[in-house]
Amino acid sequence: MVEAATESPAPAEPVSTEPATASMRRPQSNSPPPTPSPAPQTASSLQKMKEQGMYRNQYFKDAECFDCGHKFKTGRSAKSANCPACGAYISLEDVEINMTSTQPVKTRGNVLIRKRGRLSASSVHCRDLDCQGIIEANVTCTGDASFRSTGSIIGEIRCNRFVVEKGADVAFLNPVHATEVEIQARVTGTIYSTGPVLITSNGSVNGDVTARSVSIEPGGELNGAMNIVRGKQPPPTMAPAPVA
Ligand SMILES: [Zn+2]
Repeated sequence: MVEAATESPAPAEPVSTEPATASMRRPQSNSPPPTPSPAPQTASSLQKMKEQGMYRNQYFKDAECFDCGHKFKTGRSAKSANCPACGAYISLEDVEINMTSTQPVKTRGNVLIRKRGRLSASSVHCRDLDCQGIIEANVTCTGDASFRSTGSIIGEIRCNRFVVEKGADVAFLNPVHATEVEIQARVTGTIYSTGPVLITSNGSVNGDVTARSVSIEPGGELNGAMNIVRGKQPPPTMAPAPVA
């Protein structure tokens, strides 16, 4: 084919300046597509963007300000950050406790309390909590809280997924609030779940359970009241019953 466009300014097709409608433009699609301008730059910049995306996923993690709630990304291995919005200090460190500690914990990292660990503090804020020991604190986890403890836990627990693991024998002296609950062992306490509660075959709950749904596997026990709630919807207004 001849590159006629470079030869003559007169185009073969009448390309006028009048507004082209879609139907008028359509025949042009039959003509060979314009040769794409050599695009090594585009390709390489695309490559760069891909690499940067991978870089971002690999080296950055999500953080959220405790004070203003601002969410941002920070280095994966960073131990702390300052909120870009309000400047507040945010710890990102994982905390491990294997003895008695009275330090409050406030981190976007995870907390592990070993079997001999005892955390007696005013409050604990973290992502995931893995407790094999004892906690005496009000706990707020943005992630999951799992307990494999023997003994009494003092303080309210607020978390996403709440699990009492096999081997535990634990009493929660204050209510547990979660979005999902799984009980695999003996637990005493009052449980509120906005989602499902599952009591497995070796699980038993001594206390009241309020949840969206409660499933008890054969062998599992619930010794207490079971209240099923329907999300956040208000109770339906009673319509007058049709008279038969
Ligand atoms: Zn902030």
